[in-house]
Amino acid sequence: MKKYRVGILGATGTVGQRFVQLLQGHPQFEITALAASDRSAGKTYAEACAWKLNGSIPENVREIVVTPIEPPLDCDIVFSSLPSGVARETEEAFARAGFPVISNSSVYRMDEDVPLLIPEINADHLGLIEIQQQKRGFGTGFIVTNPNCAVASFAPPLAALHRRYGVESVVVTTLQAISGAGYPGVSSMDIVDNVLPYIAGEEPKVETEAQKILGTFRDNSIDKADFTVSAQCFRVDVIDGHTASVRVDLKEKATLEDIVAAMKEFPTLDLYSSPARFIEVLEEPTRPQPRLDRDSGNGMTITVGRVFPDNVFDYRFVALSHNTVRGAAGSTILNAELLASKNLI
Ligand code: NAP
Repeated sequence: MKKYRVGILGATGTVGQRFVQLLQGHPQFEITALAASDRSAGKTYAEACAWKLNGSIPENVREIVVTPIEPPLDCDIVFSSLPSGVARETEEAFARAGFPVISNSSVYRMDEDVPLLIPEINADHLGLIEIQQQKRGFGTGFIVTNPNCAVASFAPPLAALHRRYGVESVVVTTLQAISGAGYPGVSSMDIVDNVLPYIAGEEPKVETEAQKILGTFRDNSIDKADFTVSAQCFRVDVIDGHTASVRVDLKEKATLEDIVAAMKEFPTLDLYSSPARFIEVLEEPTRPQPRLDRDSGNGMTITVGRVFPDNVFDYRFVALSHNTVRGAAGSTILNAELLASKNLI
């Protein structure tokens, strides 16, 4: 199996650390470059990084010297977890220098020539890459993105319903983990014993990204799905795992059994990081819960529960995913595995 050399932008941060952890022992990718801000550049990764995951910093990256976020890097492909303030310029510079860039940042997600991918749902949107390269004069480089971490939790069950019955409208309330704000993120004085009813910039993303992901690639562009989403986003006192409470109206009639079957039967992929089940539907009335379900499928499974007919909408359900794995680093790695399987890197 071909091995690709990976450079990580934002390597010292919350998502960057998850990349380092998930890439240990990966058969296709090895880390050869780590980049972060001027605060970290010039130090070894062990010196620069305040490691917040279980265990120690892996041996193979401890002594790598962190570089500034400028091309070129000693790698074949770039995984980016930069704050949006620096992502636009930097990711474009890498793509222009010939690097495939897979990004967690929101800045390019909604650009019409940039794939916004959940590989199980819309792998065909990779057809945008060629159009992007021509339009932006990128040569061999390009940018592919993965969705907002809260969208990653509810877009998969919506996709299952949309494919069979059509989604008409959605109301979603998200309960988002502390790690979603990066490190050091939200002050403990704000979040302990509390729920925060505002996450800057979040609701517009949650109200628009699923329609692009569930859109149809036609005539070299994405025809977005035509349902509306109304979102309220909360930060809650949970370390990892975003929960979404969803109410949905469908275009066609479906029984409760139909919609549970649509979710359970949604196919997974045969890539290294694919979970055995993409969507798991639990019957227990108390699930899903972040602490119990976020690591399902090594953090790559979407766990759904509380699926019921609703008094106002057609149905309601709760969906949960691991925000730094399926909602960030794990998604980027799955995207890269997909690109490799299609000989696009
Ligand atoms: P974070 O913990 O704050 O880490 C930010 C990283 O970017 C660090 O490596 C930091 O380096 C680097 N950085 C910050 N400012 C920089 C600058 N001016 N120039 C160069 N490097 C800079 O943030 P995060 O949670 O990992 O999030 C990273 C990106 O992923 C954001 O766009 C976020 O929206 C997105 N995202 C996050 C999650 C999540 O669950 N956390 C999920 C999906 C998407 P230093 O250590 O040197 O400061």
